[in-house]
Amino acid sequence: MVVSVLVEVSSTNVDKTYDYLVPSTLEKDIKIGVRVEVEFGSRNIIGFILDIKDYSDIDGLKPIKNIIDKDVVLTDELLDLGKWMKEETLSTLISCFQVMLPKALKAHNNNINKKYDYYYSLNKEIDLSLYTFNSKQELIISMCKNKSILKKELVEISNSSLNTLIKKNILLEEKKEHYRYNLESNKNVIHKLTPKQKNIYEEIINYEDNKPSLLYGITGSGKTEIYMELIDYYLSLGKTSIVLVPEISLTAQLIKRFSDRFGNHIAVLHSALSQGEKYDEYRKISRGEVDIVIGARSAIFAPIKNIGIIIVDEEHSDSYKQENNPRYNAKDVAIYRAKINNCKVVFGSATPSLEYMARAKKGVFHLLELNERVNKMPLPKIEIVDMNKERRGQSLYFSNLLINKIKEKILLGEQVILLLNRRGYASFVTCKNCGYTMKCPNCDITLTYHKSSKNLRCHYCGYATKLDNCPNCHEDALRNLGVGTERIEEELHKLLDVRVVRMDYDTTTRKGSHEAIINSFREHKYDVLLGTQVVSKGLDFPLVTLVGVINADTSLNIPDFRSSEVTFSLLNQVGGRAGRSDREGSVIIQTNNPDHYAIQYAKSNDYIGFYKEEMNIRKVLKYPPYYYLCYIRVSGKDNNYVNIESNKIKRSLDRNINNIIILGPSPSILYKINNIYRYGIIIKYKDISNIKEILLKIIDHYKNNNKIKIDIDFNPINMM
Ligand code: ADP
Ligand code: ZN
Repeated sequence: MVVSVLVEVSSTNVDKTYDYLVPSTLEKDIKIGVRVEVEFGSRNIIGFILDIKDYSDIDGLKPIKNIIDKDVVLTDELLDLGKWMKEETLSTLISCFQVMLPKALKAHNNNINKKYDYYYSLNKEIDLSLYTFNSKQELIISMCKNKSILKKELVEISNSSLNTLIKKNILLEEKKEHYRYNLESNKNVIHKLTPKQKNIYEEIINYEDNKPSLLYGITGSGKTEIYMELIDYYLSLGKTSIVLVPEISLTAQLIKRFSDRFGNHIAVLHSALSQGEKYDEYRKISRGEVDIVIGARSAIFAPIKNIGIIIVDEEHSDSYKQENNPRYNAKDVAIYRAKINNCKVVFGSATPSLEYMARAKKGVFHLLELNERVNKMPLPKIEIVDMNKERRGQSLYFSNLLINKIKEKILLGEQVILLLNRRGYASFVTCKNCGYTMKCPNCDITLTYHKSSKNLRCHYCGYATKLDNCPNCHEDALRNLGVGTERIEEELHKLLDVRVVRMDYDTTTRKGSHEAIINSFREHKYDVLLGTQVVSKGLDFPLVTLVGVINADTSLNIPDFRSSEVTFSLLNQVGGRAGRSDREGSVIIQTNNPDHYAIQYAKSNDYIGFYKEEMNIRKVLKYPPYYYLCYIRVSGKDNNYVNIESNKIKRSLDRNINNIIILGPSPSILYKINNIYRYGIIIKYKDISNIKEILLKIIDHYKNNNKIKIDIDFNPINMM
């Protein structure tokens, strides 16, 4: 017997299988999709079996060393998905498989232990009358007579008695796997759907066509409740569900709602779990012990069988796109899996992505609308503050209106969320004397001052340095121009006597810290929750009646064609956090661009208005959804060489593909990261026909050239 094994080797030129012999003793355990250990060159590595053959044409095959898995890791569906994804993203097959699996099941890594619980039961073969027991032994025996008892309970009675009984073979040991992660409570909370919700629910389950559904429903319209009802429906048919949510560590609340209703039917896959917990959750799924998988991007690969519905919540979120190879979008995978499984797929959002809304309007997707809040509360009132006109009396960053409103809300015993969207390059340190701006020596990026650690840091490579005199003129004149969350917090304390909790990258690195912050805010230990865009998503606090956006311009100023869409969506989402219970909410947006259409439409809560205007702009500028994009990043250590080769690539594209628009090559926005220079070429196209073929030729041409790295990104979200 011969097997073809796919191994991971860290270069693009090894993306094929290698044949190995199977020793006869191992033959019976060989299956496609399990991992084996093989000799590759001079080392032992792990790979996946992709094929089983009777013989090979190649002489002198080496035998496999070891079979790692009893159960199949790459199921038939995952094998198919991986191959499809390779075609879609032009990545290596091995990278496609690796991205689908939890760390413990990837090729090359197997150091996560299973945990076990030990149980004991009475050995029925033994005649107890032949023994004498002390009272503790008697007790243990009586406990274990009719069922297996957890070791811990028996140890509490007497460890030595237990050991004696085990030694005498009177108790039999049973080892059961222990899962590290457990959802609590099953309260069976079910809301009766409102008539509007019920309509949507019925439209979805009765829809005969196999088009994906797009549920466009304003914040608080009860989309999540509809999802749960749909899942329940498929459960009643004996079918399973996958629910994708963005950045799930923040959506503890959402998981709680699901677990309150579905209890231990659920497995959760998210970044806040430890590797061990993820492994356990994953195996619950593989073994068919759960019917519902909730998770972030990679949960779309969960090996769950018999799928009834796939739900993608907050469809517009860019977290569904993976930003390194393979650069897949979980939404595309959802559509593909739905097709293969012949099941429903539902995308939901209060601000659908332009691409998806355009498809829905064209009838490619099934459009469903929910335009009122469940509690009939009006959407919050939104006020725009023109910061150009603001007299900076009290504060650099807070308008008088915002400060007064915060004060007023706190006096009423209500709570406030403040958003500072730090994306964009607001934060930097310059010299007052010579104008020099502190930059990272490895990256072409300004450094950010962190007050708590009193140093300057690069947010890309982690470089850190002490804030000292200006390296250019040596004067002690460096000053911090950017506005970070830390600075805002300090300022707020100066202005008001408030309890502020900050949630951003720096305060949430520890496991569980998101939850801790959210819980203490919910328990009203704080008046103000201040954070980066993480505070805009999915949170539901009844006491929050005011949302303040410190500076809407940071996301508007991102040099990307989606900056208006991102800003509109962010403002809409964060606004949706206010007034979710019976108290009316209000939103204050501070900006230097009060007339910008994204801000104006956000003010009037007019998604459709925004959609129309933005579509016109995209049409004129030939951007998605009118054109597809492909971003080609060429990078390497030698700036000049990378530049020259980028131009060759452009020429090759130009010569070989018709009817495309090519932009660049130009230095990327993040031009130099970690001493690597980056150039970008953008292709705009309507028809993909021979594009992949030409790109594959280019990849192939450079595959043995270690001075150049080429990354291909179809439908890119982040072209930096
Ligand atoms: P969305 O996901 O659209 O933002 P949610 O499903 O979170 O909306 O609903 C908003 C709020 O209304 C939640 O607190 C939810 O529990 C409540 N809710 C939703 N549907 C119902 C219903 N049919 N009956 C009672 N409460 C509901
Ligand atoms: Zn750096």
